Amino acid sequence: MLRGEAKQEVEFALKKGGADDIRKAVAYYGIKIVNNNQILCPFHPDHKPSCTLYKDHGHCFACGKTFHSFDLVELKEGLRYNDSLEKAWTEILGYPLPEYDKPKSKRRKKLTDSDLKLLGLTSGMGGYVEMPVGVVLFENRNKVDNKSQRREADGNYLALSNERVPSLLSLVEKGDPFAISIITKKSDEELAKIRAMLSQTKDPNTEIGFLCLDKNYLKDAKTFLYKRKDKIEKIRSLALSYRRSGVTEVSW
Ligand SMILES: [Zn+2]
Repeated sequence: MLRGEAKQEVEFALKKGGADDIRKAVAYYGIKIVNNNQILCPFHPDHKPSCTLYKDHGHCFACGKTFHSFDLVELKEGLRYNDSLEKAWTEILGYPLPEYDKPKSKRRKKLTDSDLKLLGLTSGMGGYVEMPVGVVLFENRNKVDNKSQRREADGNYLALSNERVPSLLSLVEKGDPFAISIITKKSDEELAKIRAMLSQTKDPNTEIGFLCLDKNYLKDAKTFLYKRKDKIEKIRSLALSYRRSGVTEVSW
């Protein structure tokens, strides 16, 4: 269906862009052309041809109507405006629909920090950490090259550098198989817990099952568990979707 940007593009092309060819629409509806460029006005009862056809529109000098191909479609077929635009564009004028009007896959959903939190993984925030880069023999209070020092228990000084550590999330986004496997493993654990709880709802000898003897409680519990199961399954497959082809999952 023609809508959004595609509709605007077609509308503009027909109204202002010179893409319309009014004679094609006139011929499509079998309207007779006289004197090379005149027709009986379709928009009012007309006895002598009052409409002049121009290249991309027609104009009636009796009722004042200026019209395009899609106006004729709307009039003749009683279609809605958008459908008239589309029919004129494709069927009468023979243009293809603009690319972005074709059904396109939805923008890919991205894994987020809150997805990781749902799995109980700490937020994927990366940060700077101090990494030892060597031992210095004596204290030098002046920092050199962005390096700092820390005195160790043995009396030695460690030279430290601040290094950026990538977040779990950023590793996943890069397709790191180890990072992805952390998420899938955690997902599998959570899914197993949910499955266990779901089966306990049927067993009155378990704490959950006893509570689930109450029909309302059972309903709420199932809704909650299935929702969570659904979410985690989505997160799991989302994480796997970052895996580059050819890279196999790390086994644990
Ligand atoms: Zn007219």
